[in-house]
Amino acid sequence: MILFKKSTELSQYIKRLKDAGNQIGFVPTMGALHKGHLALLETSFSSNDLTVCSIFVNPTQFNDPKDFKKYPVSIEQDIQMLESSGADILFLPSVEKIYPGGTTHLQHFDIGHLENILEGRYRPGHFQGVCQVMNRLLNIVEPHRVYMGQKDFQQCMVVKRLLELTTSETLLIICRTQREPDGLAMSSRNLRLNDEERSKAATIYQVLQFFKQHVKAGSLNQLKTTGKEMLDEKRFKTDYVEIADAGTLAVLNEWDGQSKLVALIASFINEVRLIDNMIIGV
Ligand code: AMP
Repeated sequence: MILFKKSTELSQYIKRLKDAGNQIGFVPTMGALHKGHLALLETSFSSNDLTVCSIFVNPTQFNDPKDFKKYPVSIEQDIQMLESSGADILFLPSVEKIYPGGTTHLQHFDIGHLENILEGRYRPGHFQGVCQVMNRLLNIVEPHRVYMGQKDFQQCMVVKRLLELTTSETLLIICRTQREPDGLAMSSRNLRLNDEERSKAATIYQVLQFFKQHVKAGSLNQLKTTGKEMLDEKRFKTDYVEIADAGTLAVLNEWDGQSKLVALIASFINEVRLIDNMIIGV
């Protein structure tokens, strides 16, 4: 695996590979790698000649500076995992390399209603930060395909919109969520859970499963209330328990029994905020 810290060197290297006819896959991450990230890499290996992974904890997407400070970092272990996974290139830039002009006057992207609903409502500015870093990374790597996890459902929709806005030729491939044996979605943030918190964390998955089993046409309000109560019982502090149209992410209170739905949850166990989602209904 080749490690790059400078964006210009990486861009030039990839351009030579592309000129020689290689297909390039790209897996952007914030590090503290786990099997969810490895699944994205594996998917990229199967369709590309070379796979680039980036590790960059992007300051502009953290609306809460405490969350940014506490974000887990395990770079040596990450490098070992990437080496043994078979990744070809690691891009490990500094904040200055990604934002050479600083982070105060960055471009604004028109992502429409996605900006202020669900995650956007509870994390103001988060998706602008995601767009800023993704736009920069995609301009540096210019991959044929970028691989992202369904675990961050709204983020995938935002990046899809970004690719449209920038008339990018990169294809977004969304990979399914990897879970622990008890159903908890793998996440770098799980490292911050103590034993007691960890034992409760799969409640989020249980609520999503409950939704999948019990959703029916008509009002969705009772289902959402029950889901919230299941989390309350375990002393979660919930930002949202919602059911939305899986195509538009418009939040729904009624289901016609036909459209594809996604249930989405964001909830805290003490200090740790976890998110998850599941396709339910048709
Ligand atoms: P992160 O390092 O958390 O920013 O995640 C980097 C990429 O990995 C994003 O596209 C995430 O959606 C994806 N990802 C994170 N957790 C999982 C998971 N459990 N299963 C699949 N993909 C994931």
